[in-house]
Amino acid sequence: MDFELPEELRLLKDNLRKFVDKELIPRERETVNNVQLQKDLQKDLRPKVDELGLWHYDVPEEFGGLGLGMLAKVIVWSEISRTTALPARYLSIFGFPVSPILYTLEGRARDEYLMPVIRGEKTSCFAQTEADAGSDPAAMRTTAVRDGDHYVINGVKRFITNADEVDFAQVFAVTDPEKRARGGITGFLVDMNTPGLKVSASYDLMVDDRPCELVFDNVRVPVWKRIGNEGEGFKHAQSWINSGRIRHGARSLGVMERCFELGSSYAKQRKTFGAYLAERQSVQWPLTDIYMDMHKLKLMLYHAAWKYDRGDDCREDAFMVKIFGDERSFWAADRVMQIHGGMGLSKELPIERFFRDQRSMMITEGAVEVLRMALARMILNVR
Ligand SMILES: Cc1cc2nc3c(=O)[nH]c(=O)nc-3n(C[C@H](O)[C@H](O)[C@H](O)COP(=O)(O)OP(=O)(O)OC[C@H]3O[C@@H](n4cnc5c(N)ncnc54)[C@H](O)[C@@H]3O)c2cc1C
Repeated sequence: MDFELPEELRLLKDNLRKFVDKELIPRERETVNNVQLQKDLQKDLRPKVDELGLWHYDVPEEFGGLGLGMLAKVIVWSEISRTTALPARYLSIFGFPVSPILYTLEGRARDEYLMPVIRGEKTSCFAQTEADAGSDPAAMRTTAVRDGDHYVINGVKRFITNADEVDFAQVFAVTDPEKRARGGITGFLVDMNTPGLKVSASYDLMVDDRPCELVFDNVRVPVWKRIGNEGEGFKHAQSWINSGRIRHGARSLGVMERCFELGSSYAKQRKTFGAYLAERQSVQWPLTDIYMDMHKLKLMLYHAAWKYDRGDDCREDAFMVKIFGDERSFWAADRVMQIHGGMGLSKELPIERFFRDQRSMMITEGAVEVLRMALARMILNVR
């Protein structure tokens, strides 16, 4: 057993740490709560990203990217998450965001959707959630009914991030109400300017995202814009869901590392009642707990990534890193906020933003209770 990172990954980690410290952390105060400025950073920093050699690090080699393995991606995700200068959910600084589902496209759909997204010419959103189908997407009501060489989509999706800005949506709809999750749900590529499709509302949240509601009123989509075969919607989602959960864990590690840095350095400078905060047991204990959590999460993450890269089943590991990471990183932000007193609430420091973002992570892409339910089914072998 070898607990050392390979030399090239140690180098990657060092270079990224310097990049984040030098280029991103100093811009946090100007970009906080300004999504446009956060997005503009990608353009501003492109020459520096090229110097790092990380452009399209997660695009597979066959599509012109670096195709980094999962362990390397965990390093990238965790290092870049030490800063609040970038949007919490879209780490697009090293390339244009490509939904992994798009890599399953073939023929015309690949040429007209995947490749333009990789080149930054088209953008997309992911439309699965509905008012009565969030944690349980199989309960969705949106339907797609075949009509000759088209499907006709009807229904309402909600909480769809960036739906008001993108060129097309990856929409999931019921094609067989009897089968539902077991082969009855299908994905489609729907251009946002298709007649009958309307962005009807957006939600003002405690995080920067403004997800929208989408109404489909007899929206006609040609058969070639179907994602894979009919009924394969959930199969495609499953193929990349482990990677998304590991990404959550990696983000949590970066957040915890920064919170620990901030908390420990403040506790060593700030004196109350004649002693440094770092000398008080009630301040030492949360800091030591964060330190232990960081170590646990790092071991869990590297193990999950190692299994992923070997092609082993890592579903259990992916559940664990998301649950543990989301919860403990939120707790770390909360405790470090407390250590900072009033300054912890200030937008001059990144802590309040970490606090808000990590709170939201416990709900999105699998609420922690739902993941525990799924983990319990696996480890207890129950329904
Ligand atoms: C910022 C943001 C961005 C989003 N972006 C997108 C997007 O781009 N595309 C998209 O399709 N969706 C998106 N969503 C939707 C997101 O995936 C859902 O909000 C999430 O799946 C939870 O669904 P829900 O809100 O309907 O909560 P519900 O499913 O109603 O659950 C509510 C709560 O009940 C509890 N719970 C639920 N089921 C169980 C259970 N079995 N056991 C125990 N407890 C349970 C959990 O605590 C959960 O938080 C986004 C949401 C947010 C907040």
